[in-house]
Amino acid sequence: MKQIIFCLFALILSKNINAQDNDTKVVLITLDGLRWQELFSGADPLLVANKEYVHDTTGLKNKFWKPTSKARREVLMPFVWNTVSKMGQIHGNRELGSKVDLTNKMWFSYPGYNEILTGKADDARIDSNDKIPNPNTTILELANTDERYKNKVAAFGSWDVFPFIVNEERSGVPVNGGFEIAKGDNLSEREKFLNHLQPKIPSPWSTVRLDAFTHYYAIEHMKKNHSALTYIAYGETDDFAHDGNYEAYLKSAYNTDALLKNLYDFTQEDPFYKDNTLFIITTDHGRGTEPLETWKSHGEKIKGAGQVWMILFGKGISAKGEISTPEQLHSTQIAPTIIKALNFTKQPKSMTGKPLSLGEK
Ligand SMILES: [Zn+2]
Repeated sequence: MKQIIFCLFALILSKNINAQDNDTKVVLITLDGLRWQELFSGADPLLVANKEYVHDTTGLKNKFWKPTSKARREVLMPFVWNTVSKMGQIHGNRELGSKVDLTNKMWFSYPGYNEILTGKADDARIDSNDKIPNPNTTILELANTDERYKNKVAAFGSWDVFPFIVNEERSGVPVNGGFEIAKGDNLSEREKFLNHLQPKIPSPWSTVRLDAFTHYYAIEHMKKNHSALTYIAYGETDDFAHDGNYEAYLKSAYNTDALLKNLYDFTQEDPFYKDNTLFIITTDHGRGTEPLETWKSHGEKIKGAGQVWMILFGKGISAKGEISTPEQLHSTQIAPTIIKALNFTKQPKSMTGKPLSLGEK
């Protein structure tokens, strides 16, 4: 009898665990230094025909100029504005009162990524973009030390500092960053081809590769290994902006939007990810607007460079579209949101931000 009761109890318990539904997959994505101004208003009227920043002004206007900001953003990022806006949430349009800000005061990349990935700013220690192994623990490392997610975490970044930001060595999280190629014995045909192609398509920069490589390395890994938590960090937008090339900056934003669509379409064809995956997309910092030339730059001296944005869609996200009511969110809330989505029993003390409330109508 005792045994029967025990079995019954175990059955009820296992049912409850199933009912908790700890099967959510997460894909975290960053677009380096893409301004909220372009995300919400498309091509900037002061820059799109500005000969100082655009070589082919006619071509760029033909591609991305429309009379209204809503039409401009749709033509710049069609997946975000035609598809994601119907199924997810887009935060950070300050003209409508939706604000998303960094809490670090550095307003450049490593501090931004540290804040997103660890849930806390660390201005005392993370104050440069130097290749220093992160002393803080990222959400990727936390997941990789949890039995349920061990070896089911992976990161892909266009910038060669990501192995340090994630602290690949300590965390054991594989990071394909910068100009790294795919490694291992069971490479897919596509991975072999990417490895072959990457050195033959020169990047304009010495520390950042073109995003298509980062993207397809990530997809191939997801197909093969079914990572439950995947981080993809695109980089082109920031570097083209630093170069003062507004034409390439816009084209890159457009291209990244297409990569996001490709990623989403892939997950909807793979039963492991289908209808089961939470997508969070954000940026590591903003850029300036005044004076005009500060669009190229960011950092503590650039007004507005701490202003960012967030896009969420997929598992557990209610379809609120573009947020048009006043709110104040912070980048520190992303890591706690992932902690909650992956069903960790408690949020680490180091994370001070509250998880985002995602399911409310
Ligand atoms: Zn930058």
